[in-house]
Amino acid sequence: MIDTYPYKPSIPANCPRCGAEGKDTSELFFQGTHVLAEHSCGDCGLDFYATLPIGHAALYPVVCARDGSYARYNRQEGSWMALPLIRSLQKDAGVGAAIGLVQPNSGGDLILVNCLDSCFGHVFTKLWNVYLLKKQFPFKTLAVLLPARCHWLITDTEIEIWSVDLPLEEMGKDIRGFDAWVKEQFMRFGSVSLSEVPVHPPLEGLDFEAILQARPFALEDFERQPLQLTFIWRSDRFWLNSRLLDFFHKASIKFGFQDRVLGLLCYRQASLLGRLLRRLRKSLPEARFVVTGQGKEGRLPSGWKDQRVAEIDERVERQWNEIYRHSQLVLGVHGSHMLIPTALSAGFVEILPRHKLPNLTEDIGRQHGGHLGPFLGRFVDEFSSPRLVAAHVWTMVKGFGRVCGKGRMEVPKKQKFLGIESGALN
Ligand SMILES: [Zn+2]
Repeated sequence: MIDTYPYKPSIPANCPRCGAEGKDTSELFFQGTHVLAEHSCGDCGLDFYATLPIGHAALYPVVCARDGSYARYNRQEGSWMALPLIRSLQKDAGVGAAIGLVQPNSGGDLILVNCLDSCFGHVFTKLWNVYLLKKQFPFKTLAVLLPARCHWLITDTEIEIWSVDLPLEEMGKDIRGFDAWVKEQFMRFGSVSLSEVPVHPPLEGLDFEAILQARPFALEDFERQPLQLTFIWRSDRFWLNSRLLDFFHKASIKFGFQDRVLGLLCYRQASLLGRLLRRLRKSLPEARFVVTGQGKEGRLPSGWKDQRVAEIDERVERQWNEIYRHSQLVLGVHGSHMLIPTALSAGFVEILPRHKLPNLTEDIGRQHGGHLGPFLGRFVDEFSSPRLVAAHVWTMVKGFGRVCGKGRMEVPKKQKFLGIESGALN
């Protein structure tokens, strides 16, 4: 917890221009996603900001001149976070947003949890801290800085919501008037502490049913409920199973021509989904296939029910939650878009890009104990074929009863089609 009101300077930082130790001027600047301590360099005189160790900034600290001209940060791993922050400090980068108070409290000692983020998955995991802190500090007042779109994730009427009405993709910008508004709110409280908002809070002790207002798939119904398999689509991260296309994709990101290859990559992903469906249709004819996710690019092959949208709002989130909680399995490429689906479905198959190996499980919402953990939670390599993915799905669906100790797995005929016996998986 960081004492913020009154603020006790405690974050040492070195000047981004000359490297000398800066002097904390005891002022904080609330940028939006980030909280910045104002420093001044004793050697070269540069006024600069240092991020407070909150959320992802605890992993990737940034020091940056007040106008964004000089900066130091982890360029290898932290650029995705640092660059939008630096850009937001540059001239004319501010953005206007309606900021408002929902469910105000009468005062007391406040713990503030900043869940503003341009990525929905990050907002969602940051928000878990609110529920954990509520249990840990039942007598403190809790407030959460939250994008307006995500209000529905706070069901506790005692939690104050500091709402910022801005599309998520703009949330990383400098929000005009935000700093003054936040500081004005502090005046209502005896003291204010900022939560460090760990980005990987423990899953234990979290009640997803309460947070999402949707009951996760009950495992006892796994074999009784109609079989539903759901793929979560993204139009910026793909299952390609092709080294050449993977090279094109990475090059397009590096050199900024994503728009030109988007159609091709969506076409490839859709065609892999078509092959996956054709394989599974033979062995699991009763299965219903659904695609959710953001981005309508790419025509889906027949047989997949298209529930994708261009824009996500609360109605869509709730609709999708109903799909996930009735899905035996959800499938998709690694990413924060998998958090809610995996929290609500019975199991998952995640296609894991190799550079995401260190982040394994970060995007998984629910893990089962014992044998069921690895049985219902599968990770496959990014270059996995539809045949291999189908084999995983098939063994999970047909083998569930056996793992639960209810019976034998019916194997032989389908094995050949799935390639299990021949070692032909790739
Ligand atoms: Zn300096």
